[in-house]
Amino acid sequence: MPVLDTAALLHWPVERLCGGIVAHSQLEELRKLSNQRAILVESIEIKWMTVDTKDAEIAASETGDLPRLSPVDLDILALAMATGETLFTDDYSLQNVCRNLGHLFESVSNKVSNEQWIWELRCIGCRATRKADSKNEEICDVCGSVMKVKRAS
Ligand SMILES: [Zn+2]
Repeated sequence: MPVLDTAALLHWPVERLCGGIVAHSQLEELRKLSNQRAILVESIEIKWMTVDTKDAEIAASETGDLPRLSPVDLDILALAMATGETLFTDDYSLQNVCRNLGHLFESVSNKVSNEQWIWELRCIGCRATRKADSKNEEICDVCGSVMKVKRAS
């Protein structure tokens, strides 16, 4: 029973989707992308679930990916963590968080990134860095300039 992201719902053959686990919030997302596909997916045997996203948010803030994840992404990550099932996703941030957690994941389109990375806030003025744990730009404690989210090198 793999956890499937919306790309899988959109692109996989229906028989491959059967038995998968998906978040309720994905149906709305899928409707926006393809209403026809949403109607089809609603008619097949998949498990619709919603779980608390708190642990997923903590896990995503550890790698600094939280600002890059949508509420739907967090729902999907939370489902994977709650069920312990393999997560199928092409989202590099979701893959990155899974890798950091040691959680099994696979790509939807058979492309998996091999790199582990960390996002950080970097000051545009003095280049000071800090862990990125929110979606917001922050102000540097050192010089008062804006800090932007960058990939840590
Ligand atoms: Zn600064």
